[in-house]
Amino acid sequence: MKRLVVLGGGESGVGTAILGKKKGYTVFVSDFGKIKDNYKEVLIQNDIPWEEEQHTESLILNADVVMKSPGIPDKAPIVKKLIAKEIPVISEIEFTAPFTNAMTIGITGSNGKTTTTMLVYHLLQSAGLNVGLGGNIGKSFAWQVAENDFDIYVLELSSFQLDGIINYKPHIAILTNISPDHLDRYEYKYENYIASKFRITRNQTESDYLIYDSDDEATTEWLTTNKTKATLIPFSLTQDFEQGAFIKNNNMEVRINHEEFIMETEYIALEGKHNMKNAMAATSVAKIMQIRNATIRESLSNFQGVEHRLEKVLKIQNVQYINDSKATNVNATFFALDSMNVPTVWIVGGVDKGNDYNELMSLVREKVKAIICLGVDNKKIIDVFGNVVDIMIEVTNMNDAVKMAQRLTEKGDAVLLSPACASFDLFENYEDRGQQFKQAVHNL
Ligand code: ADP
Repeated sequence: MKRLVVLGGGESGVGTAILGKKKGYTVFVSDFGKIKDNYKEVLIQNDIPWEEEQHTESLILNADVVMKSPGIPDKAPIVKKLIAKEIPVISEIEFTAPFTNAMTIGITGSNGKTTTTMLVYHLLQSAGLNVGLGGNIGKSFAWQVAENDFDIYVLELSSFQLDGIINYKPHIAILTNISPDHLDRYEYKYENYIASKFRITRNQTESDYLIYDSDDEATTEWLTTNKTKATLIPFSLTQDFEQGAFIKNNNMEVRINHEEFIMETEYIALEGKHNMKNAMAATSVAKIMQIRNATIRESLSNFQGVEHRLEKVLKIQNVQYINDSKATNVNATFFALDSMNVPTVWIVGGVDKGNDYNELMSLVREKVKAIICLGVDNKKIIDVFGNVVDIMIEVTNMNDAVKMAQRLTEKGDAVLLSPACASFDLFENYEDRGQQFKQAVHNL
């Protein structure tokens, strides 16, 4: 029997363990941190041995194959030892894909993965297809293949998951865009991170598709100097195509395989330029899958977006409060500010990831009436925008941020939480930050 060792006892680790066991492997799960109680119970029920708060080398270095959970970096000592012994270290997606005949749609990129994944899922579900949702979202791909396999999966794939693929290929890949992120995991080299994103297409063939943003510099540059066999489907806000998706005269047009879909952008429920891109990418999938135009139209008009992404919370005294807590980098915040069309009080800050705020300068000049800094280290923000906006205030908790924002607004304004930073200084994670914002708004 082959020995599968799973590093990390979270959603993807436990899912992989269950699938491996079902497929006849001897399985061992090892987590250097703590494993959650509900996952422990599942492992016990399935008779799968596990350990936590340690990696026992004698039980790990004898593996035939190792599934490494996405949170564990390559530089972790145990991973280095496995690689030195030439034991294959793969991701959940790589391990799982051979055990299902389902078609997969893989979605990656720096921003917009979750929104696009949810929209693709919504489109395919509305068309009555038997479709599962996995990857970074919800139940793991492995777990679903083990227990309740679908015909099609829509998978949100981080670069960490793509780093661990060898043979996996999605039939349809979306690369939403690329901007610097997570560089600490890529030796601080942007080109390594870009290469990681493009792993999504490395095994694709002519019958597969790569949908990409042709306005995105890093993406188009890679495509001019590297090769993919996949059929390319570009989308753009500025150019049009014989085959691809674009915006023209306030219509979204998608032309694929001699079929065409057209819809007035005003009837698309998602708002903002970035979301038009997400909608073009998702609709391209729907057209490849030959979903009826009427179904696509209806799905695009009723998809309300995902929590914490430009989420409209409440209107109080004609001031709109917007929760964009998931904006953890400058690029995401760029599109949030870009989508504002009234004077805005902007709540920003958190753990800086090497941000270059100058990219936001012209939008801030044009749209922002006051800045509220909510983080432990606001110096950079104050240095960049101190002379640009009249009002700049530092606060240390969400309640003060929201109360202060209310004081600074007048009828017709908006309050936008779009931090451009990670949340770990004052909050557990971005969800916690977004929930606290919404609670504070409801308390007003
Ligand atoms: P991801 O899963 O890649 O983090 P999300 O859909 O969760 O992407 O969105 C993350 C943040 O980026 C949100 O603030 C959202 O408003 C913004 N965003 C969504 N789509 C895009 C896009 N295509 N380009 C830039 N920013 C985007």
